[in-house]
Amino acid sequence: QKKYLMIPGPTPIPPEVTLAMSRPMIGHRSGDFAKLHERVVAKLKQVFKTQNDIFILTNSGTGGMEMAVANIVNPGDEVLALSTGNFGERFAKIAKEYGAKVDMVDFGWGNAVDLALVEEKLKQNPNYKAVLATHNETSTGVKNDIAGIAALTRNHRAVLIVDAVSSLGGMEFDTDGWGVDVVVTGSQKALMLPPGLAFISFSQKALEAAQENKNPKFYFSLPAAKKALAEWNTAYTPAVSLFFGLEAALDLILEEGLDNVIKRHKLLARACREGVKALGLKLFPAEENASDTVTAVAGDDRYDPEQLRKVLRTKYGVTFAGGQKDLKGKIFRIGHMGYVDKLDIIVAIGALEMALKEIGYPVELGAGVKKAMEIITGGE
Ligand code: PMP
Repeated sequence: QKKYLMIPGPTPIPPEVTLAMSRPMIGHRSGDFAKLHERVVAKLKQVFKTQNDIFILTNSGTGGMEMAVANIVNPGDEVLALSTGNFGERFAKIAKEYGAKVDMVDFGWGNAVDLALVEEKLKQNPNYKAVLATHNETSTGVKNDIAGIAALTRNHRAVLIVDAVSSLGGMEFDTDGWGVDVVVTGSQKALMLPPGLAFISFSQKALEAAQENKNPKFYFSLPAAKKALAEWNTAYTPAVSLFFGLEAALDLILEEGLDNVIKRHKLLARACREGVKALGLKLFPAEENASDTVTAVAGDDRYDPEQLRKVLRTKYGVTFAGGQKDLKGKIFRIGHMGYVDKLDIIVAIGALEMALKEIGYPVELGAGVKKAMEIITGGE
């Protein structure tokens, strides 16, 4: 059976990237690797839209989140954590583990960050050392207004640390233009690579805040990473093969043009949402907050999302993601980021229609696909 991986990470890998990763191994202290490292950092800066230093870590995205917190937040520091779901909660938890006094604002799973509340919080407390925010809350399919949050932290002492794991390279993100201090992302989402690398940028404000940092740290030490970057490249043995793939993936993004990549994700997300709605299903978040990389669909009393996912997987080879934590069994999520194009959406919606029919949900076959096609062809 042909398999279609349609979850919000790990995502499918382009053949150019797979091929690049099969190159013979090279030493990580060789001149060839040093040059490769320099090239991929320069290309990453274009995708991050930053002049800040970017560090490439051999670990998953959560390691990047931990590196940000470990180097900025001292025990006892006050931290404002803006949570809109599972990954916002994780960020707050990491800060707690590092001894921060975490002021967590839970906007609710399915909702976006309310800027007015953030403004009020920052006005009330000039002492926050950091603000933690999630750009794209993968667990709920909600995007947050990072430009808006950054406009509020710019004149505040707080360092803005953003989890852009499931958005960077798929949704607009302007690190320097918006003034985001620390940006974290991972390899296995819109960047079209297997899991295993994380990328992190630090602004001048963040680097200064990190200078006062006293946490014990080793693998995640920013001073060690900075020293290695100045002298060579990465502090410890990097996942060399993933670096080969990284350059191929970044070349694909830059050849298409970052703006075009962002536009493609926008169009496909809209086609997906409209296709879903045309079947009578309801989006989980309010549409104005809907992500361009993952579409979360609400369950209702006419169908069970878990039964639907099982039919999709077994009968059609299509894997969608379920809900996480309290949303388990209540929603399903369609990933559409990275190596994704128009016909992938037709596959997703087409399979969805057939599986829905099979589990007894009232559906007119073709209604969702027709709508998605209209969006894709610009007929609507
Ligand atoms: N943040 C977000 C928004 C994510 O989607 C994920 C992965 N699903 C993570 C953080 C954690 O990344 P990883 O699983 O690579 O540690």
